[in-house]
Amino acid sequence: KLSTTQRANSLEARDVAHILHPYTNAVVHEAEGPLVLAGGDGIHVIDRDGNRYIEGLSGLFCASLGFSESRLVEAAHRQMQTLPFYHSFGGRSHETAIELSERLIALAPVPMSKVFFANSGSEANDTAIKLVWYYHNAIGKPQKKKIISRQRAYHGVTVASASLTGLPYTHKAFDLPLPGILHTDCPSFYHHGLPGETVEAFATRCAESLEALILREGPDTVGAFFAEPLMASGGCIVPPPTYYAKIQAVLRKYDILLIADEVICGFGRLGTMFGTEAFGLEPDMMAMAKQLSAAYQPISALMVNEKIYAAVRDQSGAIGTFGHGFTYGGHPVATAVALETLKIYEERDIVGHVRDIAPGFQSALRALADHPLVGDVRGMGLIGALEVTSDKATKTPFDPSLGVAAHVGKRALAHGVITRAMGDMVHLCPPLIITAAQVSDLVARIGAALDDTL
Ligand code: PLP
Repeated sequence: KLSTTQRANSLEARDVAHILHPYTNAVVHEAEGPLVLAGGDGIHVIDRDGNRYIEGLSGLFCASLGFSESRLVEAAHRQMQTLPFYHSFGGRSHETAIELSERLIALAPVPMSKVFFANSGSEANDTAIKLVWYYHNAIGKPQKKKIISRQRAYHGVTVASASLTGLPYTHKAFDLPLPGILHTDCPSFYHHGLPGETVEAFATRCAESLEALILREGPDTVGAFFAEPLMASGGCIVPPPTYYAKIQAVLRKYDILLIADEVICGFGRLGTMFGTEAFGLEPDMMAMAKQLSAAYQPISALMVNEKIYAAVRDQSGAIGTFGHGFTYGGHPVATAVALETLKIYEERDIVGHVRDIAPGFQSALRALADHPLVGDVRGMGLIGALEVTSDKATKTPFDPSLGVAAHVGKRALAHGVITRAMGDMVHLCPPLIITAAQVSDLVARIGAALDDTL
């Protein structure tokens, strides 16, 4: 393959010359250039030279129906021809947004009252933060505004949602987190379980630590707790079985709202429609995006329960307009595509398919736990990750300068698989339409990439 500089007028060179890439090391990018994709076919994407790759991460945990679902293309086209744009400000509306909101409320695993549409997971979480503040102003508890999230959480990158995120690279160079957004323990037994401690005792310790934080801050100042049911980007962390029961008992004790971030777990990923069901959560708000439209259009939604909505309605009487909204929130083309996506999920019983296929995926991944480089294998449903380690017994990470996981990612690419390799993690989150045979093929290629890295 020619280097980026050799292909002076290539797309690769033009990319390096003009695009500031998100979540990319700029120095490495200038040296190596981009991978330019040109097409998609089922669970595969195809580069400009015609090489096919299994998209082992569904793009960014989102392309649930793969890369060539014609029904979604047709839904977008139909809507473009009828009403290509309209907004929802000032009580304006249109049919696909109405139908989509009805379907989402009907799917909600706990009673939900209204749907607010936005364009990204970050915006949905940002909206949830504003509603936590709005709600507590409305009910006469203006001091109850602090928000607790968790170390290693991923909730987005806007100023407020990046503050919720609990990863150093989203904070350090940006003067974040915002004051009043706090982080409690990450429920990863692999990383934080003490020698001799049971998983159950670890879950208790996490809940006690949350309670201690609330008491330190003052329970009257803490308004909400945000949680991805399964923490995806931060390391595919599956909390212990009793963790959420214990956490929710603490939240109830101090009258603290719970927001479930379903941006990755939502719409079948864990073998349930939402992660909320998988873990027995009782959230007041649920943020969703990504698989809501199978990623064919940017759209997110925040469902709120009646308690939150009542505050908005009552305040509208007192203070007038609810002053929040995005020009493209509930965009007709995005809502039409999301609606068609939900119809496809139902017709094809996508959740049932995930339940059928997930045990094979999880056991194939776990078979890699014996590999000398692998310290831990985690996952649930059709999401999983490998954590590499330099010493299985002590769980010692590799020296970051060695870039071991990144090397596994590169070798996976050479074996025709796109993954996401960050830190010590190699993430897998294939399209939900993947077949059992494709799962075996995918995991075998990851095994080969690990062997290459030894
Ligand atoms: N919440 C979770 C759980 C996510 O994984 C992500 C993105 O990966 C976000 C929120 C942010 O979504 P977006 O990138 O659409 O802003």
